[in-house]
Amino acid sequence: MRAVLATSNRGKVEEFRRLFAGSGIEIVLPDKVIEVEEKGQSYLENALIKAKAYHRVYSLPTIADDSGLEVDALGGYPGLFSSRFWSIDHGGIEIGDEPPDARNVKKLLRLLDGKDRSARFVAVVVLYPGDCFLASEGTCEGRIADSPRGEKGFGYDPVFIPEGLNLTMAELSPEEKDRISHRGRAVRSLLECIDHLRAVV
Ligand code: IMP
Repeated sequence: MRAVLATSNRGKVEEFRRLFAGSGIEIVLPDKVIEVEEKGQSYLENALIKAKAYHRVYSLPTIADDSGLEVDALGGYPGLFSSRFWSIDHGGIEIGDEPPDARNVKKLLRLLDGKDRSARFVAVVVLYPGDCFLASEGTCEGRIADSPRGEKGFGYDPVFIPEGLNLTMAELSPEEKDRISHRGRAVRSLLECIDHLRAVV
């Protein structure tokens, strides 16, 4: 099966390519950015909004995800607002010239000063062939580091320390991240679900 990947996020593209390698699903990268307003109330709603928007353009089965970082001391924020945390009116807007990811991290560290640092990444991945969908969720528990470390990954990776480790996600190899990450877990359970369906249908 060929499936279009409903994202233009470079970090996610690399991860999805690795995670679907050898699965029998050939990932097709979109040749243009489709602007989508993520106005859903949940990761699943947002993933479906993206999947449907790309499906309308490409008429191919579509894979989409929506993901975020949930920090306990911030009542689950940034959550659905993770990619644009710097700009939302929650804990003050982070103004500056740096790219959004760097401003998101700065704001997070500012808000967590002196607070409990437990957090988790959550990802919901959907496969939308048109008219129906399969969805799966993956989580990765951990804590927020005192300062950024590591060059790999994207987003909040430099400040997220997965449970049981002393390294940030950005210090792990791509394969190590895939093994424990929210996205890795969600994709593997989606693939298991597809296998299960193939076996019974
Ligand atoms: P969205 O799913 O495109 O709405 O974006 C989710 C946002 O959550 C990203 O832009 C990152 O800020 C953050 N995020 C999601 N997954 C990861 C990850 O694996 N590493 C680091 N940050 C992530």
